[in-house]
Amino acid sequence: MNSRISRAAVAFVATAGATLGVTVANPSPAAAAMTICYNTSQATSFASIANQAATIWNNATTNLTLSPNCGSNLRIYQITGGGSYAVRTSLGNGRVYIDTQQAQQYSPLRIMTHEIGHILGLPDNYNGNCAILMSGGSAGTSCTNPYPSTTEANRVSNLFAGTRSAERTSGDTGGAVFRDSWPAAPATVG
Ligand SMILES: [Zn+2]
Repeated sequence: MNSRISRAAVAFVATAGATLGVTVANPSPAAAAMTICYNTSQATSFASIANQAATIWNNATTNLTLSPNCGSNLRIYQITGGGSYAVRTSLGNGRVYIDTQQAQQYSPLRIMTHEIGHILGLPDNYNGNCAILMSGGSAGTSCTNPYPSTTEANRVSNLFAGTRSAERTSGDTGGAVFRDSWPAAPATVG
């Protein structure tokens, strides 16, 4: 009888040890996520679209969290004319400018998620494929897809793997300006 109790105790300890081992081997991904505070105080009519774009990126990626009202890693501006573009000062930091005139031709949400994609480390990829977010305006004004492809989202997750602050500047994800993503659409006739 004592022997059976002893075996049960050993089994319990072994199980607890295994559980502890898993916990230590896999720290919570949330603990390593980099917070990118975005500021929409000058985004005017595009503020709610910026929030939608942040949710899209947060749902599609790991290792980073776009969060409003906590700082200004990313400032979002509404402009009129000149074209939408992004200025990345370093990975996860910079400014996004959304042109109200382009937003009448192209999907405002697609423009917003695309330009934020530059801040998150992605280059343009003008292949005309609407399933690719970074194809931008090359997919035409009828393309309203605001979601990054799995490949694009995974690339962002990998770029942010291990980051814990907004200070990282390395590799090809440093400062850069991204313009001309959204060419003027030809005038429609009739
Ligand atoms: Zn672009």
